[in-house]
Amino acid sequence: MYSKTFLSLLLFAFTVWCAGAQNSKKTDQKIQTLHTISSNEILEYATELSSPKYKGRLSGSPEFQDVANWCAGKFEEWGVKPANNGSYFQYFKNEFSEVNSLGAVIYFNGKEKTYLDFPEDYLPGSNSANGKVEAELVYVGYGISAPELDYDDYKNIDVKGKIIILEPGIPYTKNDTILAKWTPYAYHRYKFRNAVKHGAAGMIYASKIANPNTVHLDGFIYAHVDTKVVDQIFSDAGKDYKEVLKQLRNGEVPSFSLPAKQKIFIKAETKYFPDAQACNVVGIIEGTDPELKNEVIIIGGHLDGQGQMGDVVFPGALDNASGIADILAAAKALASSQVKPKRTVLFILFGGEECGLYGSKLYCEQPLFPIEKTTMMINLDMVGNGTGFFVEGGKSHAQLFTHFEAANSNYIHREMESSASRKNYGRPRSDASIFESAGIKTFGLWTRGSVFPVYYHHPMDKTNVLTPEIMEDAAKLLYLGVLGVANDESL
Ligand SMILES: [Zn+2]
Repeated sequence: MYSKTFLSLLLFAFTVWCAGAQNSKKTDQKIQTLHTISSNEILEYATELSSPKYKGRLSGSPEFQDVANWCAGKFEEWGVKPANNGSYFQYFKNEFSEVNSLGAVIYFNGKEKTYLDFPEDYLPGSNSANGKVEAELVYVGYGISAPELDYDDYKNIDVKGKIIILEPGIPYTKNDTILAKWTPYAYHRYKFRNAVKHGAAGMIYASKIANPNTVHLDGFIYAHVDTKVVDQIFSDAGKDYKEVLKQLRNGEVPSFSLPAKQKIFIKAETKYFPDAQACNVVGIIEGTDPELKNEVIIIGGHLDGQGQMGDVVFPGALDNASGIADILAAAKALASSQVKPKRTVLFILFGGEECGLYGSKLYCEQPLFPIEKTTMMINLDMVGNGTGFFVEGGKSHAQLFTHFEAANSNYIHREMESSASRKNYGRPRSDASIFESAGIKTFGLWTRGSVFPVYYHHPMDKTNVLTPEIMEDAAKLLYLGVLGVANDESL
């Protein structure tokens, strides 16, 4: 006869074996799903999103709604459910302007005219008024009037009827510990309004990136120019641009009028749509645990881009078709996964990011799940060109991050660095920062070690600068990491 002790030992061993078998079955199932994530498919998504038919996915435009519909169609196909009371969309107001031609920027130095080249020397202003302007020039540095900080770039100069030359940024230095006081002056919108308030007729912005994150102001015509254009204008006036920039960065105010013979001509052909709207695309995979399904993990990234200027599309392949393609692949994998998430997973493809983070702000003001029930948010922006990963927030939210670290070290084997959540420089610049400020634990994921040149907000940001292998691995990291967090009962 066997003793009771021996029998219970045997039973215990059997139970352990069963649990082990169960676990390894789960692991096998997870790996099966993992292998369905393919770089070819992800590149197809990115190619669709970057297609000229969506005209660069400008938030507010009809083509943005078209691409939002395409993404919602994919969610539906895979069984990712609508997250907003039966709808895949969460709408908000989003004014925008169509840029109908490349327009023109001509510089006259007093002797000869120079026609600036697109996109080497200039880009049209995304929110410029329609029309033409020709005038003398005034350099206004950062274009800030902050009486309480005893700072005014417009002090002792007259810009009425003139075209101003404006710099991006704020007079904040590493020695100045109080960044927050300059924050209200860091916004392009503030700078544009301040210019119009002082009577400027037009502007060339010494920041050559396409940028819908500005504002349409009646009659205010502007273009972005390369700093080499400003350098030329300065040297024709006998000024040293580098010296002036040095003064500016020291907190001095170097504003001055340029000689009257030097002129700029700007032509802009735009149409303004003040009452347009855009949306976030929201899809959900409901958790399987009766309790934990009330908690949500958000996977987000911005769907919108810089639009189209004349016939030139800004495809926004890296920024951010890459992130959306990764999210779609992870959504498909999570939806078909035999290992189900116990917590709920919410996908948000943001609109209005390029216009000023409209979509993420809207979500945090009108969340679909309570903020306090939101376990974490991971944001993907420019995740498609490189050899490794970088995770902002990994060091701040270490317990959550272990799931992503384990996914990487067990299955993906990429270099993965992380940092603590970082304070934004001057103004919030990413959807992740909006969620982090709302009190949600947030990771910002992007790729590192560029294989191809990065063409930021530029017509050359095409799918040929994407590395499909890292996109596949990013989708795998999302699938495994999110599943790990979703099923971690110790959280
Ligand atoms: Zn972006």
